[in-house]
Amino acid sequence: MNALIMVLPGDGTGPEVTDQAVEVLETVAELYGHRFTIRTDLVGMDAIEAYGAAIADDTLADCAQADAILFGAVGGLTQVGDGPRPEQALFRLRTEFELFANLRPVRPFGALIDASPLKPEYLKGTDLLFVRELSAGLYYGHLETVPGKPSEIRRRGNRMEAIDTLLYTEDQIERVVRTAFELAGTRRRNVTSVDKANVLSSSVLWRRVVERVAREHPEVTWEHMLVDTCAMRLIRNPAEFDVVVTENLFGDILTDEASMLAGSIGMLPSASLGSRRTPGGVFGLYEPVHGSAPDIARQDRANPIGAILSAAMLLRHSLGLHPEAAAVEAAVEAVLADGFRTEDIAYAGGTAIGTAELGSRVREQL
Ligand code: ATP
Ligand code: MG
Repeated sequence: MNALIMVLPGDGTGPEVTDQAVEVLETVAELYGHRFTIRTDLVGMDAIEAYGAAIADDTLADCAQADAILFGAVGGLTQVGDGPRPEQALFRLRTEFELFANLRPVRPFGALIDASPLKPEYLKGTDLLFVRELSAGLYYGHLETVPGKPSEIRRRGNRMEAIDTLLYTEDQIERVVRTAFELAGTRRRNVTSVDKANVLSSSVLWRRVVERVAREHPEVTWEHMLVDTCAMRLIRNPAEFDVVVTENLFGDILTDEASMLAGSIGMLPSASLGSRRTPGGVFGLYEPVHGSAPDIARQDRANPIGAILSAAMLLRHSLGLHPEAAAVEAAVEAVLADGFRTEDIAYAGGTAIGTAELGSRVREQL
């Protein structure tokens, strides 16, 4: 197949891990006879320097032409004040393309299970997929406020107060819940919907929508779970979950909690899906869960697996190339099983190697 992939490597370790992921995509294209056109542009600090904004309008226009975006990381020190900040790039991409469903799979690899804070017997069989609502909720407040700008702190008499607004509309809930049920259909057919319906009105509406969407998917078993219960059960029995769907803030916290099951932040991929259809699936932005990690940047020390697995998600969700995606994941698993480690996972034993060598070993396995 032909596909156009927009690559935005960004700051810190972003470029070096993204390079490895791009080379994996090129290897997949060669092996399976696809033609991927890769277009690269600046984002984050370099974009601020070159274009005066964390992402240029022209870059956004190029992204709109693409089937998917492969993103590295943004972050870095800017002057205080109202100037542009590198993180605004992600924010603009999310709003511009209405990326409403944030997917974070967590599957501890056998070779690393000892590196997890949990006992191996607790982790056995863990393979879960978080679907976090990404476009609404507390982070957005009222529709009239500037997205991402925290509500003002104001004075009332001699005290200060601050208000955040948690607003969800029926369709914002419906589209993400539908995504979760559809994805569950391709996995173990189970959905856990997480909310706080004993306290929050938005959660009561959330439940109603879940119940309606669930009726359209009789093949999927599902349950409601309170967020506090979920926080506990993720540690107590992570293997019980298949797909977990939840609103923005709960998802932010629970996905960080769940990510630790996998051993290192450098291992974890993510996808942020929109609703525009592509020939093979839906348009999305794919990035490792970790940030720009400036402390280890440009030293060939970063773990590229999160970025490589993000490329696998791109193949699966935006291009519909399921066997190719599974092959990339199997190659990563094989490299780990052979004992090769970047330093963040070297505590699991094995041979310590650098970013580039780990990437090339994944391609060799492919
Ligand atoms: P940002 O502000 O961009 O989020 P950060 O430093 O706050 O950057 P991360 O980039 O997530 O956050 O890094 C957190 C810690 O995890 C750092 O010590 C970093 O070195 C480590 N880390 C992050 N990504 C990787 C990786 N790919 N491989 C190895 N270590 C990583
Ligand atoms: Mg960070």
